[in-house]
Amino acid sequence: MNKSYCPSLTEYKRRKTRVVNIGGLPMGGDYPIRVQSMTTVDTMDTMGSVEQCIRMIEAGCEYIRITAPSIKEAENLKNIKEELAKRGYNVPLIADIHFTPNAAEVAARIVEKVRVNPGNYADKKKFQVIEYDDASYQAELDRIRERFVPLVRICKEHGTAMRIGTNHGSLSDRILSRYGDTPLGMVESALEFLRICEDEGYYEIIISMKASNTQVMVQAYRLLVQKLEEEGMQPYPLHLGVTEAGEAEDGRIKSAVGIGTLLEDGLGDTVRVSLTEAPEAEAPVAKALIDRYTHRAEKAQPLKPICNVPINPFQYHRRETVEVENLGGTNVPRVVADLSRQTDVQYADLKCVGHLYSMLLDKFNMNDLGADFIYTGHNPINFMLPNGLKEIVNYDTWLTAEQREDRHPLLDAAQYIGGVERHEKVNFVLLTLQDLSSELLERLKQDKTAVLMLQTNNAHAMPELRKCFFRLMNNGVQTPCIIKRAYGQLTPDETQLYAATDVGGLLIDGLGDGVMLGTEFLPAQEKGEWLQTIDQYNSLSFGILQAARTRMSKTEYISCPSCGRTLFDLQETTAMIRKRTDHLKGVKIGIMGCIVNGPGEMADADYGYVGVGKDKIALYRGQTVIKKAVPADRAVDELIELIREDDKWIEPVQLVE
Ligand code: SF4
Repeated sequence: MNKSYCPSLTEYKRRKTRVVNIGGLPMGGDYPIRVQSMTTVDTMDTMGSVEQCIRMIEAGCEYIRITAPSIKEAENLKNIKEELAKRGYNVPLIADIHFTPNAAEVAARIVEKVRVNPGNYADKKKFQVIEYDDASYQAELDRIRERFVPLVRICKEHGTAMRIGTNHGSLSDRILSRYGDTPLGMVESALEFLRICEDEGYYEIIISMKASNTQVMVQAYRLLVQKLEEEGMQPYPLHLGVTEAGEAEDGRIKSAVGIGTLLEDGLGDTVRVSLTEAPEAEAPVAKALIDRYTHRAEKAQPLKPICNVPINPFQYHRRETVEVENLGGTNVPRVVADLSRQTDVQYADLKCVGHLYSMLLDKFNMNDLGADFIYTGHNPINFMLPNGLKEIVNYDTWLTAEQREDRHPLLDAAQYIGGVERHEKVNFVLLTLQDLSSELLERLKQDKTAVLMLQTNNAHAMPELRKCFFRLMNNGVQTPCIIKRAYGQLTPDETQLYAATDVGGLLIDGLGDGVMLGTEFLPAQEKGEWLQTIDQYNSLSFGILQAARTRMSKTEYISCPSCGRTLFDLQETTAMIRKRTDHLKGVKIGIMGCIVNGPGEMADADYGYVGVGKDKIALYRGQTVIKKAVPADRAVDELIELIREDDKWIEPVQLVE
């Protein structure tokens, strides 16, 4: 199988792409990776749109996308553009088109770029499985060509660029019938349009493969690059994004898992982070993701190329490992919280790792973010740990500790090779790539008690850790591995984004049986601050596992970022729905601003809350509408009723402290 999808799996190199000129601000080639975002104000509100564009530009946006649902909005782009120019802003504008070729044809004469969704440009989504034979499939393609060619010609004539933006949630019935809901279907959906463009001699194209499922999204982009090469097509620039990522911490983590994973491999020429927040909040997140690669190539320590890639980068398979107690095998990836910088840990302090002590009842409860292990280094805990929580201590501390059977030692490579005394059941071994000698690999193969903690000091961290996994796999070592990363003083946003990229980039390929975010590089703090940091790291670890879809510990919200079509305040509504449902572990709820794209975009949500009109909400079970126009003030109650009917509702429990 041809597994090549990027310039290098070990060295930081950007994929060489074609330069596309977008209103004088080129994208691709050696140009910087561009930041872009989308307005949420009604496109007919010229002044409101202009004000919002200016806020976005000032926050770092280099291109701005504006929805054009019909001809009148497409025409109004001219007024927005002129008003922006009058105020000294010449940012390239992008018209966002769904379902309306006539609006696209108007917009393409006004703005610098149009975005079309191949899933709905010439198709109405019917949610039907239709069997297409070769002749009827070809007839559909001919119909699309006829509908799409006029736009291509207008773009060519006016020097307008185009994004062919596939969305996992809005593939056409034709694609679904032949390829299913798959990364290959997403790629083929774009290629159908791309072939028409190339036949017309039009190449000013950018492509995106967005999904809210990060695994699908990453696989689709990789497959796209491979297919472009295979078909001898141009190396078109890539627009990266995770759709409906959500808000706050979850939205940032999910975006980084998807976008960061691709950036690490040199893929991506522009980034749009979609958060259910004001659009000006998105650009700094995109910028923080991109800026990490500005000096990556100079800072990275060289790694030898990989000859044998033991995974399929286009499909998820978890690396096969032996089960060591509750680690590896089919166990969910575990969370190890680092408490080693904190002395004198008391019962109540374990709240920061999700284990809550009630003084009143004199017992512990565990919330959904209860860590599985704590690493205490040289500061072992002096009481019995609750809820099956286990402790890891440094090897020399373990040797002299009381109740050694209740604690697990952390050995270094020399201690491990040296054959020192061990715990009977689980021994953790802290290693880097350089430690993975043939002798050590042979030892690991015989050892049913070892669990590795893989770490690196290389600035090109994820690829080095990936190389560790590949070496283990190529040598037949099935020892479970915890991914360990540690960061110095970063902003909370940077910590979230970098950790989500480094750890998520491995989990997405089925690599990793746990995560530990180490605290060793953080400056000294007071106890209260430490507990807060550990709390954040613990929640971040669970968030990354969820965003990479490897362990569900919370309710998942797939909320759209909102745009000019949005029929309610998305941020406020999402907060309200969260407040009532965030204890429903593993349930996926889509919150979509409009009926036009909402049902398609919420993809694999279990339930959907979708705006259908002013103060009117449609409620969905999967892709089926159950209640068509519920008044907004009753909609959350009715949503809960729906969840209750499916026996998925549980009453929230107040944990007593
Ligand atoms: S689903 Fe949300 S972002 Fe997408 S078109 Fe509708 S309102 Fe806009």
